Amino acid sequence: MTFPADRGLAWPVDHPPLVTVGDPMRPDPARLAALIGESITTGWFSNGGPLHFRLEQALTGLAGAEQLDLVSSGTMALMMALRLGNLPEGAEVITPALSFAATAQAIAWCGFRPVFADISPDTLTLCPRAVAAAISPRTAAILPVHFLDVPCDVAALGDIARRHGLWLAYDAAQAFGLTLDGQPIGVHGDASAFSLHATKVLHTGEGGFVVTNGAEASARLRRLRNFGLEAGRMTGPGTNGKLSEAQAALGLALLPDLAAEIAARQALRALYDAALGSVPGITLHRGGGGASAGLTTYALRAAPALRARIHQALAQGRILARNHFPLLCGPGTRWPEVPIITAHRQPIAPQVAPEVLCLPFHGRVAAEDAQRIAAIIRRVVAEGHPA
Ligand SMILES: *Cc1c(COP(=O)(O)O)cnc(C)c1O
Repeated sequence: MTFPADRGLAWPVDHPPLVTVGDPMRPDPARLAALIGESITTGWFSNGGPLHFRLEQALTGLAGAEQLDLVSSGTMALMMALRLGNLPEGAEVITPALSFAATAQAIAWCGFRPVFADISPDTLTLCPRAVAAAISPRTAAILPVHFLDVPCDVAALGDIARRHGLWLAYDAAQAFGLTLDGQPIGVHGDASAFSLHATKVLHTGEGGFVVTNGAEASARLRRLRNFGLEAGRMTGPGTNGKLSEAQAALGLALLPDLAAEIAARQALRALYDAALGSVPGITLHRGGGGASAGLTTYALRAAPALRARIHQALAQGRILARNHFPLLCGPGTRWPEVPIITAHRQPIAPQVAPEVLCLPFHGRVAAEDAQRIAAIIRRVVAEGHPA
């Protein structure tokens, strides 16, 4: 029997990794029990109860959002953010070829058609020039992704959306706490979808939220997540996209620990940056100019052969690093025949996908473990470049 495998690396079950790529925040048991106790006392278990209300209020402040509505997952948030645009059935939605699977699946699950555009070679986010090249008479929306803790080129994408009258929804599932030029990332576009999954910095086990820019959008979103009901009558499209009270309790129980988790991640990022910043053959992936340091992933890039050697050496040290972001179209995917529309001679996304490696990044990585990780990486690189 093996531990859940990571792309070719299997872990013996009696020999699990000592340091994993992610590790969810864990609530204080007494605090969580008290909140669950409230739910039992009041008899509210779902349908926007008191805990749901409190979490929504707290997150609205934290996210600097005008309107914020909780939903049952980040994927549900993506579908809601798209549905808010009233796109026609079968409409084309332009999205990056490199992201987590949920981005493209959400488009298709809504009955729209994903059109895969290339990424920019530096930010690894959706390339505005590729988006411009991908626009057809059937294009109705753009769904860019703030990816690997780096914000999209929001100015250029916003400009394209405006000029072509396209709905602009952002996949901000990985972007909790990210700011750009001092502004929370969720202010951009028509809607932004965030995830509260356990792999993200703040979580409710499963969960998510949508940030919109007005009471009207928020009211429509509440109908969408509640079967399309308005005052008891089914007035439009809808589904069950609600977050339960038990999930809200988990989020509320974690909130007092969030500042410490963020501080620990920032310290870890600084430690990795210092230890790996000048290693030849390795590029640390980070946002430019006005972007804040991300809180969700710590990614580096290396040529595929070097990346594979680093991945293997870390596994031998019982450290689980990971690349969980394969291409979303092309051979072996749900969209095997769909091309990547690019503004370059060759698409960038297929070159970059085998270069990305995410290092352990969470508040439970001890400084000595991070130093050990950096030392292993430096050793592997040195072995490849004998002096
Ligand atoms: C995590 C993630 C999602 C999905 O969020 P869930 O809450 O797991 O549904 C979507 N897009 C991206 C880019 C993600 O990283």
